[in-house]
Amino acid sequence: MSFNLEYSINQKVELPEDYEVELHIKREDKINPFISGNKYRKLKYNLQEAQSLDYKTILTFGGAYSNHIAAVAAAGKELGFKTIGIIRGEELVAKVNENPTLRFAKSQGMHFKFVSRSAYRDKENERFLEVLKEELNDFYLVPEGGTNLLAVKGCEEILNEEDSAFDYICCAVGTGGTISGLINTSKSHQKILGFPALKGDFLSTNISKFVTKNNWELITDYHFGGYAKVNKELIDFINQFNQEYNISLDPVYTGKLMFGVIKMIEANYFEKNSKILVIHTGGLQGISGMNKRLIDKELPLINE
Ligand SMILES: *Cc1c(COP(=O)(O)O)cnc(C)c1O
Repeated sequence: MSFNLEYSINQKVELPEDYEVELHIKREDKINPFISGNKYRKLKYNLQEAQSLDYKTILTFGGAYSNHIAAVAAAGKELGFKTIGIIRGEELVAKVNENPTLRFAKSQGMHFKFVSRSAYRDKENERFLEVLKEELNDFYLVPEGGTNLLAVKGCEEILNEEDSAFDYICCAVGTGGTISGLINTSKSHQKILGFPALKGDFLSTNISKFVTKNNWELITDYHFGGYAKVNKELIDFINQFNQEYNISLDPVYTGKLMFGVIKMIEANYFEKNSKILVIHTGGLQGISGMNKRLIDKELPLINE
């Protein structure tokens, strides 16, 4: 595999002194602008596997603003795979050029197949996959959001030895692959806090499939009503945080995560002098798509 990568580093966030905790952000968003953050980690071993099995085509699934779709398209281009995205929502077929994520994925050579929401729900069904295989020839399948055993293996590489100095590791949760990798690498004195970006009781079960430790917990108070749901308070927070610390957060995952972490610091959830590491899992490509929707909702825009 040969990606053009920058390294991810831990950056200290200079909180007001009376907060009495230490906060650092692991800048996984800096790995690559499009194959960013956890999506790089989750694809790494999957694409190696596809290469070693001599697959020429990668097929995956996603919504119209999906960071995963953008990452698969860009990674496929860099590594010479043909990529196919099964996209939720038939109406989008006419809107590829208006949608920043799909437009980008197309520019990377991704082919799309748009399916209805009900067909999309069925996507992991054998019959649906068989039909796709007949139609599109053979492909290596990366699941929605990219979570499988190889993805978790990649996410086990996010934390390194020096990170064992932290008491808390905090991350956003979508399907649970990223937090599973963090848990597997964590030390027993550390606590891993996951902040789900959506409502859903299935997440703990998902995570339990990949981990054996129990030094983790899901904090379910900061999903803002559901996946990709936002309000003015969240947008104002993201813009203020960016202004103060010069770190962009995305509205779907890392903005909600950091909002929650700061609120919990303010509520004295963490013991005095705790060292907290927040994982910036990327997702910044999603900001321009969100801004288009914010205009329609007459909400303030996220500064890019
Ligand atoms: C996909 C994504 C997540 C969620 O990761 P899971 O492994 O699905 O839990 C978190 N943050 C960002 C920025 C993402 O794009």
